Amino acid sequence: MKPTKPRADRPALDLDLPQFLDAGPSPYHAAAVAVGAAVRAGFQVLYDGDPWTLEAGRAYVVLHNGSTVAAFRMGRKAPADAGFRLVGAHTDSPNLRLKPRPGLASAGHVLFDVEVYGSPILATWVDRDLSIAGRVTLDRGGTLATALVRMDEPLCRISTLAIHLGRGVNEDGLKLDKHRHLAPSLGQLAAGEDPTRAALDTLARAAECEVDDLRGFDVGLYDTAKAAYVGRNGELLASARLDNLASCHAALAAVIAAPPSDATAIAFLFDHEEVGSQTAEGASSAWTAGLLQRIATAAGGAASLPQALARSMLVSADMAHAVHPNHPEKHDGVHAPRLNEGPVVKTNASRRYGTDAETGAYFRALCRLEGVPAQEFVTRADLACGSTIGPIVAAGAGIRTVDVGNPMLSMHSVREVCGRHDAAAMTRVLTRFLAADVPLPW
Ligand SMILES: [Zn+2]
Repeated sequence: MKPTKPRADRPALDLDLPQFLDAGPSPYHAAAVAVGAAVRAGFQVLYDGDPWTLEAGRAYVVLHNGSTVAAFRMGRKAPADAGFRLVGAHTDSPNLRLKPRPGLASAGHVLFDVEVYGSPILATWVDRDLSIAGRVTLDRGGTLATALVRMDEPLCRISTLAIHLGRGVNEDGLKLDKHRHLAPSLGQLAAGEDPTRAALDTLARAAECEVDDLRGFDVGLYDTAKAAYVGRNGELLASARLDNLASCHAALAAVIAAPPSDATAIAFLFDHEEVGSQTAEGASSAWTAGLLQRIATAAGGAASLPQALARSMLVSADMAHAVHPNHPEKHDGVHAPRLNEGPVVKTNASRRYGTDAETGAYFRALCRLEGVPAQEFVTRADLACGSTIGPIVAAGAGIRTVDVGNPMLSMHSVREVCGRHDAAAMTRVLTRFLAADVPLPW
C-alpha cells in the first residue's frame, strides 16, 4: 500500500491551520467555521430534529447545540458490515467567561466580571490585548434568536501589578486570586455610569443589537494576537487554542479529503472537553451514541449498532506534551516527544488514554504507511496524567480507541506553540485512517 497523495479530484479543506485558529476564538465560532468548510467541500447539512435519509457514499454535517460538530461520509457498506472510522477532537479551550451581570467598577475603571473556564495558565492572560467572542441570545420582536458575536479590535486587558508594588513576583511567581485579580479593564467609567450597563452596552455594540434586547450570552475573552510562524526557519507555530483546534483542523481536513470507502468515516468535534465533557454537547452526551445509532439504523436496521461498533475504531486526537527545552526533567526520557518529529501515541496504564496494544499498533502502522514518524508519550510516574475524550467515548459506546496528538509546548497558555510540520503529517495519517483501506487487527 502506498502513502496517500492529495488528489486534484478530491475536495480539500480550504482553510489552512493559522486561518482556522484565527477564525475560532470561541467554540461556537470554531464549530460554525467547521460546518461552513464542510459545506463548501460538498457536505450536506443535517439538523438533529429532522428525519434523515442517508445515502451510501454521500457526506453530511451536523451542528449540535451550536458548538459540537459531526462531519461524516457514509460508507459504501452498512456500518454493521464495515464499521465506523471515527476521529474525535474538541472545540473548546480554557479561557475566561463573562458572568451574567458582567460589569464591575473599581478605581475609576469599568471591568468585566469573569469566571474561569477549564484550567488556563492564568498568568499568561495578563498584559494581553483581549477581546470578546461567543454567542448572544436576543429578543427579536417577541421570539428568541441566537447569533455569534465577536469583537475584532482589542477591547480590554488584565494588567499586572508593577514590580515595585509586588517585589517578590520573580521569586514567588505571579499569583492571581481567581475571584479578585482576573477582571479585565474596559477603560474608564464615566461619572454616574452603571458598570453593568456599561459592560452590557459594550457587548450589545459587538452584537450589533440594542442592549435591552440582550437576553442571554455565552461569551468569553480571547487574545487578539493572530497565529504566527516563529523560529529560525519558521518551524514553530504560535497561537491561541492549538489545544485543540489544531486537532479539529486535522480531523476536518481528513474527513473532507478521505476517499469514499466501505466504512463510514466520521469526524467528531466536541465542546466542553476542558470542563469534563458531562454536558449535552460534550463527549459524554448520549447524543454521540445516538448519532451512531441513527446512522447505523438508516443504513441497515436498528439491531446492527453493536455489530457496527465491534468493527469500529476511534482515534482521539488531542495535543500532546512535547519535551520542554528548559524543563527536560519533566518528561520520562524515552517517552519524550519532540516538536516536528511526528504524531504522538499516548499510553497510560490507568487508562486515562484509550490506547491499547492493538489500537496503538494500528496507528503506528498507518504512520509507517504514510512515511510519518510516530512518537510515544507516557507521563512520569510521579506526575498526574491528563486525559482526553478518548476514554469517555470508548466507555460510552464501547469503541476501541487510540489516543494520539501532535506535540506542543505551553499547553493551556493563552498562546501556545507547536511544530509547523506536524500538522500536515497528522492530517495525512488521519486521512489514511478514515480511508479504511488497512484492515483493523480484530
Ligand atoms: Zn485538549
